[in-house]
Amino acid sequence: MNHNQKKCLCNEPLCAKCLGIGCEDDGCKKHSVADKIRSKQKILNSLLNKKKDGQGVAKFRSEIERLQDLRENS
Ligand SMILES: [Zn+2]
Ligand SMILES: [Zn+2]
Repeated sequence: MNHNQKKCLCNEPLCAKCLGIGCEDDGCKKHSVADKIRSKQKILNSLLNKKKDGQGVAKFRSEIERLQDLRENS
């Protein structure tokens, strides 16, 4: 099993916190993979705009890549 199965208990589909970092449930019914990619991309862009680099940026990049793979293979 490759899926991340942390259960997400949030009921707000547009919750910025969950879409950005909070929701770690790849099969979440409230937060779609596509929305999470979009939201994380936005956060990544704002980090880059602030010239912040390092761990945060690397983490978002790899997470976005992982979700994109997931979406393509599902
Ligand atoms: Zn939430
Ligand atoms: Zn969720």
